[in-house]
Amino acid sequence: MDTSRGGTLFRLHLAVGTLLTLVCCALPDTGWRSVLYSTVSFACLGLLVVGIRRHRPRASAGWWLIAAGVGLWSTADLLWGVWTWILDIDPFPSPADALYLTSYLFMAGGFARFVRARRRGQGDREGVIDSLIFTVGFVLLSWVLLMRPGLELAGSSTVAGALAAAYPLGDVLLLALLVRMLTTTGARTAAFRWLAAATGLLLVADCGYQYAVMRDLPDSFVDLPFLLAYVCFAAAALHPSMRQLTDPVAAADETDTRFTRRRLVALTLASLLSPGTLLVQLALGVRPEAWAVASTSVVLFLLVVARMSGLLRHLEQQASRLADMARTDALTGLPNRRTSDAELERMQTRARAEGSPLCVAVLDLDRFKSFNDTFGHQAGDSLLVQSATAWRAGLEAARAAIGPDRAAMLGRWGGEEFVLLLLGHDLDGAVALVEGLRERTPAGQTFSAGVASWSGLESPAELFARADAALYAAKEGGRDRVVPAAAPSPVSDDAAGTPVSRG
Ligand code: GH3
Ligand code: MG
Ligand code: MG
Repeated sequence: MDTSRGGTLFRLHLAVGTLLTLVCCALPDTGWRSVLYSTVSFACLGLLVVGIRRHRPRASAGWWLIAAGVGLWSTADLLWGVWTWILDIDPFPSPADALYLTSYLFMAGGFARFVRARRRGQGDREGVIDSLIFTVGFVLLSWVLLMRPGLELAGSSTVAGALAAAYPLGDVLLLALLVRMLTTTGARTAAFRWLAAATGLLLVADCGYQYAVMRDLPDSFVDLPFLLAYVCFAAAALHPSMRQLTDPVAAADETDTRFTRRRLVALTLASLLSPGTLLVQLALGVRPEAWAVASTSVVLFLLVVARMSGLLRHLEQQASRLADMARTDALTGLPNRRTSDAELERMQTRARAEGSPLCVAVLDLDRFKSFNDTFGHQAGDSLLVQSATAWRAGLEAARAAIGPDRAAMLGRWGGEEFVLLLLGHDLDGAVALVEGLRERTPAGQTFSAGVASWSGLESPAELFARADAALYAAKEGGRDRVVPAAAPSPVSDDAAGTPVSRG
C-alpha cells in the first residue's frame, strides 16, 4: 500500500491506528476492550471528517456519505457495547440493527457517487457486466453460507428472517459497488486503494461475523478486520490523492484497464463459483443447492456470453478500423499504393469482361523539392493535401460526364506522385480528364503526367511502366504537361509519345 507523501497526519494515523487496533484485539473480551474498540472507531470517523475538510474533494458528497456510513456503524457498535457490558441485555431486534442496515445504504450511496463521477457520463457496458458476474457469484456464496442457514435458524419469526436476509443483502450491495468501482477507469491513486481495502475488510468482517454468530463460533476475531477497515477509511480520506478519486485517466490507461489478464483470471474464478459450489457440496456430502446453483449458472453463463459479444464487437470495430488504415494514405486520406494496385487488378477484370477501355495516369508534382525547400516541409504536406482535395473535387465534378459505366480512382502512389485509374475512358478521354485536373492544382503548382491505355494483354507492372515512361517524357519536355504513352510495342521499349499540351 502506498504510504508515500501522505503527510504527517496520515502516517501518524496509520501507525497509531494499527497499534491501537492490535492492542484492542489482544485484550481479553471485556468492557474495556469494547471501550478501546469504540475509541478507535470514533477516532477514525473524526479523522475521516478531518481528511474531507482538509482536502476539499470535488466528489465531497460521496465522501460525506461514506463518513455517515462509518458513523452509523460505529454508533451501532457503541450501542451494542453499552447493552452488552453496562446494561447486560441483548435486545433483538435492536435499534443497532436499524443503524447497521442504514449504514450499508449510506456507504453504497457514497460508492455509487464515486462510480458515476469516475465514468464521466460514458456508458461502460463491460464494467457493469464484470461487476454483475462477481456479484452473482457472491450472491450464491452468500445464499449458501449466510442467507439460507440464517433463514432456517429464523424459523417462523418474520423479523428474524428479514434480518437474516437483510445483512447478507447489504454485503452483496457493498460488494457490487466495490467491484463496480474497481472496474471504473478513474485514477488508481493511493486513496482509491485504501478505500477499496477498507470496503474489502468491512465485507470480510461482516460476513465472518454473521457466519460465526450463526454457527455459534467465537466472533471476537472479526474485531481485527472491522477496526482495520475503519483505519483504512480514515487513511483514504487523509491521503491527499483522495482529491483525484474522480479524476479521469489518459486514454492509453483506459484501454489498459479494459481487459487485463488479471481481470480475466478474476472473471474466470467468479464464473466458476457456481459449479465449484456444487462440486464442494457434493464432495462434502451436504445437500446440494441445486436450484441456487442451476439458476446462478444460467445467469453467469448469459453474462459471460454478453461480455464475449461485447468483446467480439470491439474486435470487429478494431479490425475494420485497422483495415481502413491499411487501405488509405494517412496524409491525404486517398487510397494508398496497395489499394491502387488491388483496384487496378479489379478494373482490369471488369475491363476485360465488359470490353471497355482502361487507362492509367501517373501524376507527379513539378519541382516539389524546391517547394519544400522554399516554404518548408509542412507547407509541402499541406500542398499535397490541398492538391488531393482539389483533384478529387475535379473528378467529382466530372462524374456526371463519366457516367455509370465509367469509374475513376485517384490514389497516392507515394511521395508527390499520384495515380489515376480510369475505367471506360479511351486514351484521348483520359488525357482530357487529366488536363482538367491540371488546371485545378492549387497554389500555382503544376504537375506532369503520363497516361497509358491498357493493351488488354499487359501486366499491371508493364502498364505502369509505360505510364511512367510517358511521365518521364513530360518532365523531359519541360514539365507542366500531360503526355500520352505510345502503344506498347513488343520490339521497342520506347513507350513515350509526344506532348499534347504545354502549360
Ligand atoms: P520533379 O519536377 O522532377 O518531379 O522535381 P521534384 O522536386 O518534384 O522531384 P524529386 O523526386 O526530386 O523530389 C520529390 C520531393 O518530394 C522530395 C521530397 O522531399 C518531397 N516529398 C515526398 N514526399 C513528401 C511528403 O509526404 N511531404 C512533403 N512535404 N514532401 C514530400
Ligand atoms: Mg517524384
Ligand atoms: Mg516531382
